[in-house]
Amino acid sequence: MLMSALTPLSDLEARDEFVARHIGVDAADEGRMLSAIGAASRAALVDAIVPRSIARGSAMSLPPAVPEAQALSELKSLAARNRVLRSHIGQGYYGTHTPTVILRNVLENPSWYTAYTPYQAEISQGRMEALVNFQTMVCDLTGMAIANASMLDEATAAAEAMTLAARVGKSKSSTFFVADDVLPQTLEVVRTRARPLGMTVVTGPADQAGQTDCFAALFQYPGVNGQVRDLRPLTEAVHARGALAVVAADLLALTLLTPPGEQGADIVVGTTQRFGMPMGNGGPHAAYMATRDDFKRSLPGRLVGVSVDAHGAPAYRLALQTREQHIRREKATSNICTAQVLPAVVASMYAVYHGPQGLKRIAQRVASFTAVLAQGLASLGWATTHDTAFDTLEVRTGEQTEALLAAAVAAGMNLRRASASTVGISLDETTTREHVQALWQVFAQGRPLPSWDTAEKGVAPLIPQALRRTSPYLTHPVFNTHHSETEMLRYLRSLSDKDLALDRTMIPLGSCTMKLNATSEMIPITWPEFAHIHPFAPQDQLQGYVQLNEQLCAWLSQATGYAGISLQPNAGSQGEYAGLLIIQAYHEARGQGHRNICLIPESAHGTNPASAQMAGMQVVVTKCDADGNVDLDDLRAKCEQHSERLACVMITYPSTYGVFETRVKELCELVHAHGGRVYVDGANMNALVGVAAPGEFGGDVSHLNLHKTFCIPHGGGGPGVGPVCVVADLVPFLPAHRSAGLGSEAQVGAVSAAPLGNAAVLPISWMYMRMMGAEGLKAATETAILSANYIAARLDGPYELHFSSNVPGIKGGGVAHECILDLRPLKESSGITAEDVAKRLIDYGFHAPTLSFPVAGTLMVEPTESESLAELDRFVEAMLAIREEIAKVERGEWPREDNPLKNAPHTAESLLKAEWNHAYTREEAAYPLASLRRQKYWPPVGRVDNVYGDRNLFCSCVPLSEYQ
Ligand SMILES: *Cc1c(COP(=O)(O)O)cnc(C)c1O
Repeated sequence: MLMSALTPLSDLEARDEFVARHIGVDAADEGRMLSAIGAASRAALVDAIVPRSIARGSAMSLPPAVPEAQALSELKSLAARNRVLRSHIGQGYYGTHTPTVILRNVLENPSWYTAYTPYQAEISQGRMEALVNFQTMVCDLTGMAIANASMLDEATAAAEAMTLAARVGKSKSSTFFVADDVLPQTLEVVRTRARPLGMTVVTGPADQAGQTDCFAALFQYPGVNGQVRDLRPLTEAVHARGALAVVAADLLALTLLTPPGEQGADIVVGTTQRFGMPMGNGGPHAAYMATRDDFKRSLPGRLVGVSVDAHGAPAYRLALQTREQHIRREKATSNICTAQVLPAVVASMYAVYHGPQGLKRIAQRVASFTAVLAQGLASLGWATTHDTAFDTLEVRTGEQTEALLAAAVAAGMNLRRASASTVGISLDETTTREHVQALWQVFAQGRPLPSWDTAEKGVAPLIPQALRRTSPYLTHPVFNTHHSETEMLRYLRSLSDKDLALDRTMIPLGSCTMKLNATSEMIPITWPEFAHIHPFAPQDQLQGYVQLNEQLCAWLSQATGYAGISLQPNAGSQGEYAGLLIIQAYHEARGQGHRNICLIPESAHGTNPASAQMAGMQVVVTKCDADGNVDLDDLRAKCEQHSERLACVMITYPSTYGVFETRVKELCELVHAHGGRVYVDGANMNALVGVAAPGEFGGDVSHLNLHKTFCIPHGGGGPGVGPVCVVADLVPFLPAHRSAGLGSEAQVGAVSAAPLGNAAVLPISWMYMRMMGAEGLKAATETAILSANYIAARLDGPYELHFSSNVPGIKGGGVAHECILDLRPLKESSGITAEDVAKRLIDYGFHAPTLSFPVAGTLMVEPTESESLAELDRFVEAMLAIREEIAKVERGEWPREDNPLKNAPHTAESLLKAEWNHAYTREEAAYPLASLRRQKYWPPVGRVDNVYGDRNLFCSCVPLSEYQ
């Protein structure tokens, strides 16, 4: 009797305790949800909805789940296999001190990292202010007129500058000139991008650009070898040929150097990494792009602009081509979607915190240490290749190169192997006297060290007089106010208080999978063993990352059924692009290089056709039927019509309509029969993990969005990771990284600046999979499906569901992990639009679902497995209350043009005005549900006027007069 009352030890150990932390629905909730849906069990529901023909043959083989503490300790041991040496490698990556107030209150703060891309302007004013600060900072430092809100990395930014120059320039040439002192990884990515577009990349000494017939030329400022070159003769020579000048510039150097914008540059790109983001083995960091004013309507990526709200007050919003790919599709010019918002916020805050004087002092210190180092090396008898420098010297080391590199490593430092006979040394914000001394020590080879005496009096930097910056920068008050830690802390808090992120409410965005980003997943990303690693450090120092890469790829292989994976692409869009290049390389390798037709259903996400266009493919759009499925007859007809030239089809599964198409296997077989390959967009993997694997049911290539399914937070619009996954016969073509010495001839070129892309956020997905195990991950998928069906069941009737699987007996008909609410009939009956409902949800304290994608006039709701039944019900209550408000408009109780929906969201200020001339009460506006009295979010602005903002494009900090 007594014995049987004891709990077995293994139960007490609760190895899967994290699963119940990640999944918000408990057993009792599940029962209630199932009965609302009309399903007997979670398994029965999933069986009824997921076509049996695609169900996995066997469970995923993953290590069993472990609790949070154990996973952290295992990862710590893995991290310890990285060797953190001081980096003097440079080449685009530098040591930096993340101000701890920014580290804790931005980078490690869920109010910033769990935010979504600011499509809903009214609940995103805080992060958009930070992004406008970023854009202003980039414009000021580069001397350009307009800058966007971040690019993925410097190399892809340079490649985007190339295609931008080809579009906006007048030259007929198809040659892009790259100066030979451009960062090697930039050259490599530019080459990858140029090839499918039929562009030729020519390299040579910078001053040969003017003699080359090209449409644009790329210069590095300062060069990879440290040289600070006058750009004016170069840009003039390029312009004289009718070509454009692109400059990749270092922002810290620009605090001291004449900016490219004052030297004739047309486009300026670069990274903001050294503004407070750790090197992180290559990412994530925000890159930037700035241009002349006349190119502003052609800028890729996102641009935050200033507009006005319904009350005439200034308000921020995403401007112009915010969803360029969705609108222009295969005519889109760039596929960039998820960018690098969180790192951009960090960089902008670094500038806010240090201000122009602080940044200048940091830069002067770096430049002075560089000059001191050069003097000392000269006194030791070492010559450098150039006599100008900001932070980098290239030392002529002759036969001694290897010995010096090894001596440096032995002393705890990495130098750059610039060539067989030269060594590069870069200094940065973290450099101290001791470091300079240690460098001298390496080069002294036993001789007495140089003295500090002359240095003590001050040293002239190696920046040529003619290139010293005279123009002011960062003059706006925001960069000159928050310099004490108290002020900075409160500024950060004031901004995040304006926004809604996952730390306050569910964000039910269809296709975006805004699930829990657990704290234990986030903790490791700032561990020094992951954070302070240079991506081009010797491989033997990167063994922790090597193992992280291997394990994560192996686990993701289990989840997807694919044979090979590369984690290099740093967003979903980049995974798509890499996947299409792989398909192309495969056809070419078989002598079928003429296959360039890419079939894409009309329901596809905009990045799909944009990526195909960038890969030089011809997009043929195929139809969908009334149920939201790919129209197989149309697809068959197009396969037959283009059989000879068919490269691939790009589908999303389950479809962007949230439907598990039952005939997907047939579709794959059809495309294969015509010699094409099947690309399965994996953005909806949250409906599949543990249940079905695209690599098993016919897919050949997929990308994943680790920032959707695998818990990397959205960061307000990045960072992301978009692994490209392939079946066995495509493994030989996975992206290489030749400038890091990785890859064979067959492989496609690098698609990111760093070999492991946004490496430093990979621990997040590793932790998630390690703590969930195979069963936990499957339970997550099933719960995500359950929750979406619960919402569909509760809202079916009051609202019209757009698509469903028509499963008999299931209320709502059965959807995948998201459901689409069709607001178009209500617009007919009441004049209320999907946008009005999205804005009214703000008054109820919610972030809107996905608006008008994939179908205009709809809302797509994806609750994810992480939300509790209480939160799902809070959302359902809000949607039902809104439906009742719409009914009042339908019945004529409220005018069609003056009701709480049309006027939403309501600011506190607008409700406190003495005058109130509306057909509804202030209470009805602010507290439509009693629960809102206990917890209320007040939007800082009223509805933002999009049209005004686009007509009056203004993308820098608001002038002081409007600041209050
Ligand atoms: C999010 C998404 C993408 C693009 O991914 P990014 O990481 O934003 O580049 C592509 N396809 C679908 C269906 C998506 O939802």
